[in-house]
Amino acid sequence: MVSQHGNPPLDVLALAAHRDDVEQTCGGTLLKMAQRGHRTGILDLTQGEMGTRGTAQDRAREAAEAAKMLCVSWRQALDIPDGRVENTWENRLKVARVIREQRPRVLILPYWKGRHPDHYMASVLGYEACFLAGLSKLDVSHALSTQHSSFSEAIEGETMSHRPFKIIYATLYYDVRPTFVVDITEQFETRFQALMAYKSQFRDQEAGTGIFPAQAEIRSRIEAMARFYGLLGGVTYAEPFLQKEVGLVEDLTMIPVKSI
Ligand SMILES: [Zn+2]
Repeated sequence: MVSQHGNPPLDVLALAAHRDDVEQTCGGTLLKMAQRGHRTGILDLTQGEMGTRGTAQDRAREAAEAAKMLCVSWRQALDIPDGRVENTWENRLKVARVIREQRPRVLILPYWKGRHPDHYMASVLGYEACFLAGLSKLDVSHALSTQHSSFSEAIEGETMSHRPFKIIYATLYYDVRPTFVVDITEQFETRFQALMAYKSQFRDQEAGTGIFPAQAEIRSRIEAMARFYGLLGGVTYAEPFLQKEVGLVEDLTMIPVKSI
C-alpha cells in the first residue's frame, strides 16, 4: 500500500514489529494524542503471516478496525517477513522512506531489549532508519522494489531528508523502569477494545472454554500493567516510556508526580 501524499506531517508515529504491538504498548497514548488534536500514525513492519491462526488478510482487517478506534490518521504495514525482522540495509531504507514521507515530529519505537527478537530488532532498525532518513544526499527510493521506486520518483519532494525531533521508547514489553508515563485513564477502555479487535489473535489463547475466560484473563493482565504504571505516575492507568535524553524543566513548581 502506498501512503497518501500531500497530507500534513504526522505529529506522532508509532513503529512496531507486529500488528497489535502498538495497541498493547502505546495505544492509549496514541488515542490521547489524537484526542488532543495531533495527527497520529502506526507503521507495522510485518503483516502477521506467521500467526498460527488467522491470515495476514485477517490481521489487515483487524488492524484497520483497531486504527479506527484509536483515531489514527495513517497506518501501513511493510512487507518485512514476520519472525524475521532484520536490521538490513534494505529494511532500513524501507523504514527511512516512510519517515521521509510521513515526517513525524515524534517517533515511538519499541524498547531495545526484549524476549522477542522482532521487537528489539525493530527498535534498532527504526533508530538507524531515522539516521538514514536525515542524510540529504541519500536517495532512499532507488534501492526499493521497482513498483515502488517508479512511483516514488514521480513525486516531488519524496526524498527530502527528515529526522523525528524526538524518539521515545515504549517499554511495556520489558521490565525496565520508565523515565516517564502517560496517563491513559480516560483512554484505557477504548485501547482495550482496540486490542480486542484482533479477534483471530486472541482466539488462539482459548482453551476450548469459550472466548470469555480468555478475554477476562487478558483484561486482568493488561489492567494490572496499566495500574502498575499508573501508580508510578499517581494516576489510575498509564503507559510507560523511556527517553535517552534528560528532562528539561522551566518551572520547578510545575513538575508533576508527587514525591512524598
Ligand atoms: Zn509483537
